[in-house]
Order: sequence, then C-alpha cells, then structure tokens
Amino acid sequence: MKFAIDHDCHIHSHLSICSDDPEQNNERILKYAEDNGLRKICLTDHFWDESLPARCDFYNKQGFEHIKKALPLPQGENVKFLFGCETEMDKDFNVGISEKLYDKFDFIIVPTTHLHFNAFVMEKVLYDPEYRAYLWIERFRKLLEKDMPFHKMGIAHLTCQLMLAGEWESGELAGEKKYLSVLRLIDDKIYRELFASAAKKGIGIELNIYPFENMGEEERREVLRPYRAAKEMGCRFYLGSDAHKPAELDAAIPRFAAIIDALELKEEDKFHFGENN
Ligand SMILES: [Zn+2]
Ligand SMILES: [Zn+2]
Repeated sequence: MKFAIDHDCHIHSHLSICSDDPEQNNERILKYAEDNGLRKICLTDHFWDESLPARCDFYNKQGFEHIKKALPLPQGENVKFLFGCETEMDKDFNVGISEKLYDKFDFIIVPTTHLHFNAFVMEKVLYDPEYRAYLWIERFRKLLEKDMPFHKMGIAHLTCQLMLAGEWESGELAGEKKYLSVLRLIDDKIYRELFASAAKKGIGIELNIYPFENMGEEERREVLRPYRAAKEMGCRFYLGSDAHKPAELDAAIPRFAAIIDALELKEEDKFHFGENN
C-alpha cells in the first residue's frame, strides 16, 4: 500500500517568533488537518530549554514556559493533535532539551541544517561549501551518538536551503543555489553510513523538500539522493510541512504527494509515534 498522507508532524504556531501570525493558531491548524483528512498532526514550535545555557536571542525567548501556552490542544473527531517541539543543536553539538522535559513532548524534532544561526551553531562562520558539508555530516553523526528517546524523535529538513542559503553572486558558480553545492560534496557512501545508523537508532526522517514543485530535474535528483539512501538503509519517514503560515499549510499536501511518488514510498516506510498516548 502506498504511503498515505494522513499526518503532518512539523507545524509551527504563532508562538514561534518567525511565524508571529495570529491566524496560525491551534484552531486553524486543526482545520487544515480536518480539511485534508489527516489523522495525526503535531505542533512543533521552536524551542530551547531555558534550564540550559543558551547564547542566542532567538531561542532565549522560546523556552518551555513560552511554547506551553499552546496547551491544551484541541482534538478533532478524527484528528489527534499532539504536542512536540523543534529544538536545536548548538556549535558544541548540545541539543536544546534536558532529559527532564522528554516526557512533556509527544515528539521532538532536531534540525541539523539550521546553519543560518551562524555563531550559535558553528565554531567558525564560513560560507564555504566544504565546511558546510562537514557540518551536515558531523551534526547528524553527533545527534545519533546521543542517548535520547529516538523512538519519538525526528530529524528535520535534511535538504533545507538554510545549510547555505542564497545565490552565488558571481564567479564560476554564478546562478547556482549554494545549498546544492553543499549536498554535491556528500557522497552516497556517507549517506548510507549515516542512514544505516539512523535506522538502527530508530529516529524518524522528515520528508520536507521545499520547494519541490519548482525544482528542475537536476535539483530534484540531488535533493532526493539522501532520502533514497535513507530508504535503502531501512529508515522510516514522516511528513512535515514546517508551515509557519496558513497558506503554507495548504500548499503542503500536493508537495507531500509529489515527494512520496518520487521516492515510491509505501506504508511500511512510515515512522510511527504517539499511537498509544
Ligand atoms: Zn527548522
Ligand atoms: Zn520548523
């Protein structure tokens, strides 16, 4: 059976500073799920545990006291609305959630590609594709080395353009998307090694390729390469729109469908969590 679009487990509310859109509220998010026949959705606002040291203004404002304002979450007749978070990994590879808070969340997402946070997430701020590729690999590897509840965790948007955003201004690579020059440096052997480890640890791999519908053939091939390796190594996948605005919620469904088709995913490739809560 084909991988069904029955969930979205990476959604921000207005509580995320980068959303700050009053329309992006619990009721609107639940409506999106109901309109599209989703059975499970998860709120994942940006989060850094205030009991841990942080050195970043963005996260200092988004501790547990802040994101728990979303609770209690409204439940739909056929929709389970779960509470999660999208935390962060800093430059010393610390993840922004302490053990005592694991139980507060149904799902914990860790992004390893938020490299736009510059000095907070990397030792030296270099706009060098080789350094970014090193960080892509190393941050992924360090996350898997942790003792964390991987059965209810996901790794976010692995092919996100934030790993090296923008266009080359000039030179040999003018017109190239920078993030692609990072992904091209990571060979299939490394992908297989990392995803074999991810499959063994049981962490979910997020399906989130933006903007997949606007990509040419070559870009698609490059962004699909890690997910193909993940599938080959037995990883399980979940859908995540990463929507910050209502319009982004509704745009997610056709994109999910296109990604599922491109990867030829089946129901058995799906990551499950929260079913017994
Ligand atoms: Zn993110
Ligand atoms: Zn997000």
